[in-house]
Amino acid sequence: MTVAVAAGLLRTLHRMHRQLADLAEQLAAGPRAVAARTRLVQAAEAKKAAAADDVKKAKVVADQKQLQLKSAEAKIADLEGKLNACKTNREYQTLRDQVAADRMATKVLEDEILEALERIDALKPSVPAAEAEIEAAKKLLAEAEAKVRSETGRLEAEVARIRGELQVAEKDLGEDVREKYDRVVKQKGADGMAAVDGGTCGGCYQQLTGNMLSDVLLGRIIICRSCGRLLYMPESSTSA
Ligand SMILES: [Zn+2]
Repeated sequence: MTVAVAAGLLRTLHRMHRQLADLAEQLAAGPRAVAARTRLVQAAEAKKAAAADDVKKAKVVADQKQLQLKSAEAKIADLEGKLNACKTNREYQTLRDQVAADRMATKVLEDEILEALERIDALKPSVPAAEAEIEAAKKLLAEAEAKVRSETGRLEAEVARIRGELQVAEKDLGEDVREKYDRVVKQKGADGMAAVDGGTCGGCYQQLTGNMLSDVLLGRIIICRSCGRLLYMPESSTSA
């Protein structure tokens, strides 16, 4: 058994449901963007912390080597001070060899210190670079937050307006139609309806029978057997 509905009513209701779905998507998109950009800020902050930590560790290495160099130099000075006190040539020579060996060791240390300092210099720029990244990410976040603040009210007002219009339009649905309509809308929202598209269901593209098509044309309520959508004729193919 089929029931006729006013021409274009389902089309109008479907349009309103699509508008509501679109508005719901817009309302969800703002907070989603805020969340995504918050994560970008956090990632940039973590990057800066890691960069600062790398610099700190490199400084510790350089400081340790500088301390080693200082004590090595003190040791050499001490040995050199003892040279004059040597009583035998042999003793003198041994001490000289020791000083020479220690000097070689300090040369290696000096090279290592130079390398460590160069490493610090190479690492340092990544800290301000990460800071710039944080600033850029914060700016994007602030923009997303401002957009949510400025648009949420308008979008919610739009939702309320269309819901009001929808409730008025739904009053024109007959009782049995209303039951089917309420069921599909509850289950599928805007996807509960579809326009006929060239002899097929515009939702799932299942071919419709001739009887179904003529029923739709007569404004009867037809439900797609494949996807369960309520079907209606598109605007271009009706005179309404
Ligand atoms: Zn279908």
